[in-house]
Amino acid sequence: MTALDLDRPEPRPDLRSLPQEHLAKLVSLLGERPFRARQLYRWLQQKGAASLDELSDVPRTLRDALAERTTLTTLERATEQRSTDGTIKWTWRTHDGKLVESVYMPEPDRRTLCVSSQVGCAVGCTFCLTGTMGLARNLTPGEIVEQVHRANRRIVELGEGEGPRPLTNLVFMGMGEPLANYRSLKVALDLLLSEDGPNFSHRHVTVSTSGLVPVMRRLGEETPVKLAVSLNATTDAQRDALMPINRRYPLAQLLEACRTFPVRNGRRITFEYVLLGGVNDSLEDAARLAQLVRGIPTKVNLIPYNANPGLPYSAPAPERVLEFQEALAARNLTAVVRKNRGRDISAACGQLAAEGGPGDPRRAPALTRPPVTG
Ligand code: SAH
Ligand code: SF4
Repeated sequence: MTALDLDRPEPRPDLRSLPQEHLAKLVSLLGERPFRARQLYRWLQQKGAASLDELSDVPRTLRDALAERTTLTTLERATEQRSTDGTIKWTWRTHDGKLVESVYMPEPDRRTLCVSSQVGCAVGCTFCLTGTMGLARNLTPGEIVEQVHRANRRIVELGEGEGPRPLTNLVFMGMGEPLANYRSLKVALDLLLSEDGPNFSHRHVTVSTSGLVPVMRRLGEETPVKLAVSLNATTDAQRDALMPINRRYPLAQLLEACRTFPVRNGRRITFEYVLLGGVNDSLEDAARLAQLVRGIPTKVNLIPYNANPGLPYSAPAPERVLEFQEALAARNLTAVVRKNRGRDISAACGQLAAEGGPGDPRRAPALTRPPVTG
């Protein structure tokens, strides 16, 4: 396990990316007693310690040894923007100066964080702003879980929630294609679901994919989390044009992977469908959509397009959104129209990395901005 090769100067293992059993090996390599592993793990993954200095009941000698031989992922808060609807968007800066975003969406019965899995995205969907950036790099497991830790702490600081883990739900619908970074995603999910860590319920964690068919199978076999699929089109010609991944894994393969995805008791697969005015919002599309998902326990999430400057799409008229939804309901499909949260701060679906993203001239200044209260 290279992550634990303490004799190699670089790269040093990242404590935030290590499962508890790897911390146990590390602790034993350092000649420490086994219970230290759990203690460390809880500091890092349950309390979300931002630095080794916080680990008050861990002996100084061990903290020094760790500081010398390992690294600890932290994310610096670069910006914080608050929407009038309570949504908060954070931009985090990584150790190498990359910017990633997470979006917090409070509701009466839950507090959800939309998490990023990559800096940018290589899939290149033509309607998505993240897609226009290309891929800068994958996030490490530590950087994925760290978004959750920083958000939890900030929510408490802002008086929006209490306890070590005010967040209740996670959706991997931020920047990036989670299944294109499966190795890190898998480790991060294990950390996030672990009892000595944040202990999220698998029922409250959803991974969204544009349709990387072979990796969908692995996700189903190796993790208990929920699946969302960005369908967005009902014919191969249409989907090829909007989502280049469809040329590799066309609709038939995608829906077959959904059909065979292990859906746990009573669960459904969420199909996201971005409604693009005049492109994929006809009533024939609605009929085809219903036909495509037949036999799959389905929930449809209709997302009226969030306009992005420079991209040639617009949302349908509200009446059309309703007609589309009704056409699905008439075919016994549950379809909800996703609320456009945080649109005033470019925090809505497909708008991430707009401001402050790499390549953006309005790129965020190095200083932490005070919250803009709505
Ligand atoms: N890459 C994964 C995870 C990101 S989820 C995926 O594509 O599933 C982002 C969701 O927002 C996807 O369902 C995508 O289709 C949708 N989306 C992208 N751009 C959008 C936009 N401008 N308006 C509304 N939804 C958008
Ligand atoms: Fe990537 Fe998802 Fe955006 Fe497509 S919709 S470019 S897969 S983030």
